[in-house]
Amino acid sequence: MTAGPRVVVVGGGPAAAALVHGLHRGGHDGSVVVLAGEGCTPYDRTAVSKGLLTGEMAAAPELFPEVLTDDVVRRADVVEIDRTAHEVVTADGKRIGWDRLVLATGAAPRVPPVPGLDGPDASTLRDAAEAEVLADRLRPGARLVVVGAGLIGLEVAAAARTRGASVVVLEAAPTALGRVLPPEVSAVVLDRHAAEGIEVRLATPPTSVVSSAASSAGHAVVCLADGTELPADHVLVATGVSPRTDLAAAAGLAIDDGVLVDELLVTSDPTIMAIGDVARVRAADGTTTRHEAYTPAMAMGQHAARTILGEPTRYVDVPWSWSDQLDLSVQVAGWPDRADRWVLRGSADDLETGLFAFGVRGDQLVAATGVSRGRQVGRVVRGAQALVAADLAVDDAALADPSTDLRRLARTG
Ligand SMILES: Cc1cc2nc3c(=O)[nH]c(=O)nc-3n(C[C@H](O)[C@H](O)[C@H](O)COP(=O)(O)OP(=O)(O)OC[C@H]3O[C@@H](n4cnc5c(N)ncnc54)[C@H](O)[C@@H]3O)c2cc1C
Repeated sequence: MTAGPRVVVVGGGPAAAALVHGLHRGGHDGSVVVLAGEGCTPYDRTAVSKGLLTGEMAAAPELFPEVLTDDVVRRADVVEIDRTAHEVVTADGKRIGWDRLVLATGAAPRVPPVPGLDGPDASTLRDAAEAEVLADRLRPGARLVVVGAGLIGLEVAAAARTRGASVVVLEAAPTALGRVLPPEVSAVVLDRHAAEGIEVRLATPPTSVVSSAASSAGHAVVCLADGTELPADHVLVATGVSPRTDLAAAAGLAIDDGVLVDELLVTSDPTIMAIGDVARVRAADGTTTRHEAYTPAMAMGQHAARTILGEPTRYVDVPWSWSDQLDLSVQVAGWPDRADRWVLRGSADDLETGLFAFGVRGDQLVAATGVSRGRQVGRVVRGAQALVAADLAVDDAALADPSTDLRRLARTG
């Protein structure tokens, strides 16, 4: 007999994995079942657009395989949450009861309503199986058109180039990576892509894609507003994701571009929590945020585990994420969209040290971004992350000065 609550988790990504690992480490004395629609035990999804595509990795690293065993993870699509009976219903009609339900359904790629972008020559990239299919198409000389110059689009462009494909990236906005980086930092990334022969066209969305079957050319054609026709052996659509909220919405939970949760990650139903990319967290001051990054997803899983174990802790982490492109590492901490100005440190000519941009709102540091060759960018961005968390007034000159140790500043004020 077990005494702890029966925990059912919907979704088998990093957030679910961290939750189960946290429960295990905390000595959870109850059953845990992960219902995973993807048909495999949880793995590190960030490898999908990096090592898995370049071929450097044969498989994505599994997450906590010692805990996320086949006994815990069941391959099942959940199609309904019955809040009255406290049961979830799977696609094959099974009903599984819970005391605590945790939604970790993640996010799904969004495809803009452009004719042909959902056709047979185009695909999105979210999981390892899709990476395998795409990698197979990225033969030397293959022509890839990537739609979207965000982090994933540019990572795919870099990986494709490494495999010898020719790449054109189309971005509708006038800047690349505009959601996370100021122009000074994104320019460094674009210059590096250009040096590698990757063509990034800004303010240039496709107007349609003619499939290889319908085109007399024998390959797909991506059409632009100015009449240009780009030949393509494959089109990769990387135009952002939407949180997978359908189940929660059908069950009547509060939704706002994500499943709304409080700082304990509890939804509008006190027996149901939501974590990871699908969760929108409402802070004590009323602001809400939803992250689409690995570290916040893992952190939310760990927080939710503590709450279930009877040690509720508020989720108030400052998010941090990274992207690897060619030999560059890009890192982002905090909330770039909250910055009203950017303070630069370093130079684009010294990428061994790195170029950094600190996002400031009033006199508060709200975000830090940086790019370097190799990973050393992390020391400064991680220091700045601590300073964002410390919530102290900051001085622009100190931020810009390479000799200022931001982590120490966070400790000493
Ligand atoms: C290609 C790629 C590269 C990335 N690179 C980085 C990076 O470099 N750095 C970074 O910080 N972040 C990166 N991310 C983002 C990061 O991987 C995500 O933030 C993270 O995976 C979110 O974890 P999650 O568990 O919330 O959701 P997900 O990883 O999306 O997992 C959700 C799981 O739930 C399953 N599911 C959904 N609905 C149901 C249902 N009804 N029933 C059963 N199962 C269901 C899905 O199939 C999926 O397996 C990347 C993402 C992608 C796609």
